[in-house]
Formats: sequence, structure tokens, C-alpha cells
Amino acid sequence: MRFIIKNDMLIPSTTDKDSLPISKLPSIPQPPLQPTFSFNPDLLQLLIGKQLLLEDIPIPFKEIQKHYENGYITYRKGIQYEGKRPVCARCGNKDTHWFATYPCSRCGETCHYCRYCIMMGRISACTVLIGWSGPVPETQLPATIKQWKGALSKGQQVASDHVIEAINQNQEHLVWAVCGAGKTEVLFAGIEAALAAKKRICIATPRTDVVLELTPRLKAAFPEIKVASLYGGSEDRHLYAPLTIATTHQLLRFYQAFDALILDEVDAFPYTVEESLQHAAIQARKPSAAMIYLTATPNQKWQRECRTGKRAFTTIPARFHRHPLPVPEFEWCGNWQKQLQKNKLPPNVLRWITARIQANKQALVFFPHIPLMEKALPILRQYTSAIEAVHAEDPDRKEKVQRMRSKEISLLLTTTILERGVTFPNIDVAVVGAEDAVFSESALVQIAGRAGRSKDHPEGVVTYFHYGKTEEMLKARRQIVAMNREGLKRDLLEK
Ligand SMILES: [Zn+2]
Ligand SMILES: [Zn+2]
Repeated sequence: MRFIIKNDMLIPSTTDKDSLPISKLPSIPQPPLQPTFSFNPDLLQLLIGKQLLLEDIPIPFKEIQKHYENGYITYRKGIQYEGKRPVCARCGNKDTHWFATYPCSRCGETCHYCRYCIMMGRISACTVLIGWSGPVPETQLPATIKQWKGALSKGQQVASDHVIEAINQNQEHLVWAVCGAGKTEVLFAGIEAALAAKKRICIATPRTDVVLELTPRLKAAFPEIKVASLYGGSEDRHLYAPLTIATTHQLLRFYQAFDALILDEVDAFPYTVEESLQHAAIQARKPSAAMIYLTATPNQKWQRECRTGKRAFTTIPARFHRHPLPVPEFEWCGNWQKQLQKNKLPPNVLRWITARIQANKQALVFFPHIPLMEKALPILRQYTSAIEAVHAEDPDRKEKVQRMRSKEISLLLTTTILERGVTFPNIDVAVVGAEDAVFSESALVQIAGRAGRSKDHPEGVVTYFHYGKTEEMLKARRQIVAMNREGLKRDLLEK
């Protein structure tokens, strides 16, 4: 598509010799709002707080253009240029390696496009990002916003109060809650406060699994509030709702939409490694919005900021059931990789596992890499048939986790894929090769956090088998010990 600027507005034109792709125009005029124009309410629903491509909108361009001319729609450049360097306006990508060119039929030029966010539809130099600038609908509030009446633990209550305050004051706040603290409930009062103030609020998380798990819980807590649940391929794609639950990827479609953004599991892949998603989170919120971060394992930088008073945070150092976190034990197991090549497991690892098999105690055993894990599987099958191995690409992953849950299998070998998100009530946990680089402090804390989750079985053994202790292992254990100490000090644990 190409435009000319006429009467201080963009007019599409393919024939005018002065026409240009949008990215080459010096600036984009925004026509004033014509209050008498009768706008299409479908467009409002689709576009409010969004930045969509023409292909995303099932309405003819002619009508969209009319809304733009009457001041109800904004056009932004899909790609901006810093000098000659392209920058993707949607994902923030500036890395020239992630741009390519192609002969573009829409603008007739050799057009730059962003490869980084292409899974959300192609952004090229002639792409228009379309948003809403017309009136915003008045939200109608039900008599009771929050139905959830559960009780919070003392630790949760403190965090919940701080979340409310941060949301009311549009501040940033980190909730550092140990695995099993019950962090979702900590949000409910803050969400209620936001909704009562007619704020639009979003909970975003890197993982689709978490979106699927949170959606019914939030719908149950706020039954009369419309909830949009967004992930790749979800049906709510075009639903405008005061409460949105989305994967961080989906945030790329939003623009200055939310008055409060809650980022859950901020440390989890891929949020930390993908700058574009951080860019998306910043763009999706209004400039003065509240930002709540939730995690059990903040990274080094954030931990330091907390210690030095540079970051507002609240810890929930104790689990909901008021029992301390299992502290990992370290056990040297020699060159376990060499042993596995010879189809053997180190004797202490084997002893640990067979003891669980005999005692009929379920266990998760983590391995750093798939091939080594698959070497261990047949060795252990000699002791029990109730054993499986899972990894990220395993098509039967869900089914195997389900069989673990229903106790059909007693032993599940896994890569870090199960480091978070899964809860089995009564398990012991081992890591084989805890010295491997994939086991970061955060991964090791999460893994240890799988044990002792239920109030009927608050204890669990966590063993890191290693061929040389790492700094990450020590940090993980220190973090767990420190949380237990704080829990005790704040009277959040049973004596
Ligand atoms: Zn083009
Ligand atoms: Zn991009």
C-alpha cells in the first residue's frame, strides 16, 4: 500500500507519482475527531488498545480509511527508520540480521520486513499498524465484582495489600513468592480494585499452559466480569474485556491498552531471553500504568536490586500450608555421563531411585539432556515398568504427566520442561548432573519447589547429584534456606 498526504491526511494511492510506503512518509497526520461521524462499533471492539495489521481486521479497508479520516482510527508505521536502520514498531527488533527484503506486491518496492515477529503476521515497510482513537465505551460494573471468598495466609495478605497499593498508585512492584505460596490468590484483591476503578487489567505469562490454568480460576473468582483469554489460536482474539489473560507473545498485538499489567513468571522462558517480549510488555501498558511482577525466582540482577533497595518488592517466604521448603541435599556422583555411556548409573543415584521404587514413593528425576535421560530409562526399567521419560518435544507429554498424577506411574524422568507448573502432591525430587549449565539457580529452586507441595505431605526429599558443585547450586540452596529463615522470623511457619 502507498499513500499521499492530502488535506493533512493520508490518502491511499497506487497511481500518484508522489505516493510512498508509509514508512517513507516524514510524519503521519492524525485527522481531528468528527463527533458527528457514526462509527462502526465492531471496529471499536476490535481495535481498542490494539495495534493490528489490515489482515487482522475482517472489515473492508475502505471503511477503516473512513474511520481514519474522521479521527477514529490511528495509523502508525510498521517499520520506523533510525537513519537507515529499520526498527520494528511492533516487536522493537533493531537487529539487522532479523530483517529481510522482498519484492513487495503491496507497495511495488523492495520492501524491508521483520523476521522476528513474523509469526504474528508480516510487518513490512509498507505495513500500517492500526489502532483506535475514538471514544472508549463506559464499563458497566456488576454489583459484586469479586466472588472469591477464600482466606489468605498472613504472608499472602501482606503481598495482597502491597499489590492493591501499587495498582492504585500506578507503581511497579515485585511479588517474590516461593513455589507453593499461592501467588494467584494474592492478585484477586488488586484485580478487584482495578476493575472497581474501571481500569483495564491484564495478566500476562510466557506460557500457554499457565494461561489455560489461570483462565477458569479467574472466571470463577470474577464470574460477572468479561475475561479474554489469549494465546496462539484462541477464540477470544477479538474480544474486548476489562480483564485479559494472555501469553506475553499476544501482548505484541496491544498498544497502550492496560492500566495495570501483571507479569507472571517473569523469569520463565522465553520472557527473559526475548527482548521483544519485554518491549511488548512496555508497549501494551499505558504510559502511567501499574506493573506487577510475580515470580518464585527473580534473576540475579533483580535480587540485587531488591537487596539494595532499588526495587519495590514483597516476599512470601512460606508456603500456604505453613511448612518450610525442602532444602536440597548435595551428593557427589562422579562422572555420571561416562557411567551412562556404559549403560550404568552411579551407585548412589541407583540406590536413591530404587529406594523410592521399593517404598512406593513417587519421584521426579531431572536430567540435563534428552539423550542421557533416554540412556537411563532402560536401565531403570529393569526395576519397575511404571516409569516414563518426558521432554519438551514429546507428543505424549501431557498424557505422561497425567499418568503420573493418577499414580499409574511412580517414576518420571524429565528434562527441565517440568521444572515449573506441575504439582504432584507427594513426591521426592532428584537432579542427576546438577552441575550442568542448564541448571541455573532459578531452575534449581523451581525444581526443589516441586517437593512437599500438599499440606498432607509437606515434606519431600530433594537431592542434587553432581560431578562438582556449582555456584548456581549453592545460590539455589542459599535462597531456599534464606526464605525458610525469613518465614520463621515472620511467624509464617508452624513451630
Ligand atoms: Zn511493501
Ligand atoms: Zn517485529
